Amino acid sequence: MTNGVVIVGAGHAGVQAAASLREEGYEGPVVLVGDEKELPYHKPPLSKTFIKDAEAKPQPLRGEAFYTGNTIDYRPGVRIEGIDAGARRLDVAGGGKLAFDRLILATGSRPRLLKLDGTDLAGVVSLRSLADARAIRELSAQTEDVVILGGGFIGLEIAATLRAAGRNVMVIEAVDRLLGRAVAPIIAAHVRQRLEAIGVRILTGATVAHLEGDNGRVSAAITSSGERLPAQMVIIGIGVVPNVELAEAAGLAVGNGIRVDQHMLSSIPEILAIGDAASYRHWFTGGDVRLESVQNATDQARLAARTVLGHAEPFSAVPWFWSDIGDMKLQMVGLTQGGDHHVVLGEPAENKFSIYHYAGNRLLGIESVNRPGDHMLGRKMLAAGFSPPPQTVAGGPDALKAALAAFQDMEPAKASA
Ligand SMILES: Cc1cc2nc3c(=O)[nH]c(=O)nc-3n(C[C@H](O)[C@H](O)[C@H](O)COP(=O)(O)OP(=O)(O)OC[C@H]3O[C@@H](n4cnc5c(N)ncnc54)[C@H](O)[C@@H]3O)c2cc1C
Repeated sequence: MTNGVVIVGAGHAGVQAAASLREEGYEGPVVLVGDEKELPYHKPPLSKTFIKDAEAKPQPLRGEAFYTGNTIDYRPGVRIEGIDAGARRLDVAGGGKLAFDRLILATGSRPRLLKLDGTDLAGVVSLRSLADARAIRELSAQTEDVVILGGGFIGLEIAATLRAAGRNVMVIEAVDRLLGRAVAPIIAAHVRQRLEAIGVRILTGATVAHLEGDNGRVSAAITSSGERLPAQMVIIGIGVVPNVELAEAAGLAVGNGIRVDQHMLSSIPEILAIGDAASYRHWFTGGDVRLESVQNATDQARLAARTVLGHAEPFSAVPWFWSDIGDMKLQMVGLTQGGDHHVVLGEPAENKFSIYHYAGNRLLGIESVNRPGDHMLGRKMLAAGFSPPPQTVAGGPDALKAALAAFQDMEPAKASA
């Protein structure tokens, strides 16, 4: 009798792993355990639309029939609290054991906490789950002033969304620019300018000293320079930390995420890890990364399923990400750290432009604002291993498409990549 594959975590990665196991022909038991009570849902809409629309419904990743129809034993509201790797058994919170032949850890990440006086007041929240989004939506209905701590993607998405819903929004970012090192300074400055144009107030190079309360509810954020910012809701959006504790306690190698190899195998080969929780050496840069994106979660899940089925191809997906901040669709492809020059296509003034990042002659990646065609072409170029010379980029999308086609004619093997 086989115990099959148990997947811990029913988010983007876990659900895709279950689906891919069946698509790849796995016939043993597949158990998908998640500690949330919901049908697994899409996270990206939570910060973009859900929190401003009282009527918005969660968007399930798959309908209920998907789980029953594919004999996927989905167990909602179940938390795993221990792994006995030797015995291949999990401890279920509240009692009980769950045996596995192979285990896939897809435990995701959670908001980073901020150690500050007042963070325990009612009205201080962060956004990761549907439950968090529901809480923010309810609070928002009774809120005029919102302070968001952290000027990263999620903080800024929420800022634009709540501003569109008529709230007074203040973003406080500790470093001197928005979006950390995730995007080029020109994009960060553009995002700031457009958010300010719709009335979002932004303080960079500023921190909050403590939060003030009134009858147990937050009433203001006090900056380190003593400014008092009224707030009936404070949203902490200072990044996430990977959920690695289960893996660590079981003796798996961990370092900014559960360490996996190019097949998604952890240091104990019966156990794989994927998604926000996993860190690995990236084929594209040769550096260690832990990526937080839907693409990374789902592509790793597909590969993990193939690994379980005995295939041995390495992870080679092109990394990409998107974020909708107000009227800006930001799309990133590739990994652009280490770039030494760039080419700009399009016009920031028209809110449509792309930055092509290079290290020497190698195209590292493209960041686009409202230029989805550049993004899609970038995905094709990087998947094909094609680095157009910067002067070809300057010739515009048609020149790039022609150059890619010529490259693929010369390199047919890569063309099918
Ligand atoms: C508000 C928001 C907006 C986002 N927008 C974008 C976007 O626009 N584009 C983009 O590419 N990415 C976006 N992301 C990031 C993207 O959602 C994540 O990268 C993705 O969800 C990672 O998938 P995952 O399966 O690894 O983790 P998750 O989706 O977080 O799933 C992990 C699941 O495991 C559960 N779990 C953890 N530990 C246990 C345990 N011990 N037992 C049982 N269950 C457990 C967790 O509760 C959770 O349900 C966004 C994220 C958020 C929160």
